[in-house]
Amino acid sequence: MDVFQKCKDFTRVSDARSAGYYLMYREIESPQDPVVTMNGQKVVMLGSMNYLGLTSHPKVKEAAVAATLKYGTGCAGSRLLNGTLDVHVRLEERLAQFMNREAALVFSTGYGVNVGVLSCLLDRHDVALLDSMDHASILDGVRLSFGKPMKFRHNDPADLEKKLGLIDEKKGKLIAIEGVYSMEGDVAPLPEMVRLKKEYGARLFLDEAHSLGVFGENGRGVAEHFGVEDDVDLVMGTFSKSLATVGGFIAGSFEVIDYIKHNARAQIFTAAIPPGAVAAVEAALDIIESEPERRERLWENTEYMRVELEGLGFETCGSQSPIISLLVGEDAPTFHMAKRLQEEGVFVNPVMTPAVPAGQSMIRTSYMATHTREQLDQALGALAKVGRELSII
Ligand code: PMP
Repeated sequence: MDVFQKCKDFTRVSDARSAGYYLMYREIESPQDPVVTMNGQKVVMLGSMNYLGLTSHPKVKEAAVAATLKYGTGCAGSRLLNGTLDVHVRLEERLAQFMNREAALVFSTGYGVNVGVLSCLLDRHDVALLDSMDHASILDGVRLSFGKPMKFRHNDPADLEKKLGLIDEKKGKLIAIEGVYSMEGDVAPLPEMVRLKKEYGARLFLDEAHSLGVFGENGRGVAEHFGVEDDVDLVMGTFSKSLATVGGFIAGSFEVIDYIKHNARAQIFTAAIPPGAVAAVEAALDIIESEPERRERLWENTEYMRVELEGLGFETCGSQSPIISLLVGEDAPTFHMAKRLQEEGVFVNPVMTPAVPAGQSMIRTSYMATHTREQLDQALGALAKVGRELSII
């Protein structure tokens, strides 16, 4: 048996290419702004997680350039050895302070945070209680550990309680959930999860990738929004969404962060995040702290689009965030809709299995603080036209 046989048998993509519906790895020739250029054409971007629009902010770009000029383009090694710069340590102190935690640790990607943290914290005496819609990075972290995964129904505290009741008291229990779920854009019922965590003596790990900078009075996320930050044991965030670059962090008690710092393989065995990215995060945090009106504009745009999309007859999948997914159902019409929308000047992401259950394929849209009403109206016009054309609305 040739190990490459599976590549020959993998026809899903070549089928999409020959049908003219291949929409992955699309090339963009401009920044991740509300309008991007593709094949020389202007397209309204409804597929970016640049929620606060900071990737093009002059202060963020200037900070990245200045740090690159001072420190160079990379660290050429692991944080553990030669790769720790003063700016890494300064950012960790800043993140700990921002998140109201004893300590924080920066990783080179958000994916690496979940893989590194979960794989080093869970051993064979532990059970990870996972929401069925948890992100792949959470699942991968658990798979790499010696802990046992146990899934509960999406955002269903009653099912979580049932599962908690099945676990031997002597086992360690970690509930790993997201603040905002990345596909449907719905929010975790955090107060109920906190109640269960306390009742069953579990720990709570919260992925705030899509909620940081978006939820909470100070932009600290869904835990701040619900007023339960003290009951969340570990919180992770990424830099690839509101924080305008790439990388991520974990924040919690000094003791736990110090353990992760010296045991997480996704931290130890990979190169440090480059100084330009570190400086971009610092500048983005300055803006998040000094310009709360950006978050307000993001929510105004989000609410406008939710009302308009529902008014048009789209099923918005329970979205409660700037991620608004539109249910289509089967894969073929979902691809077709995304392609037609691009022809009409709107970029959206088609989402299908394994990211969502079969038969629940959707068009995922997401919004930025920097979208203008005119751009949103242009997108709505195209969504209405294509939605009717394909009998989705
Ligand atoms: N957690 C969640 C919920 C995510 O959606 C993502 C990526 N979109 C990640 C973690 C990984 O973050 P990154 O892309 O910054 O590596």
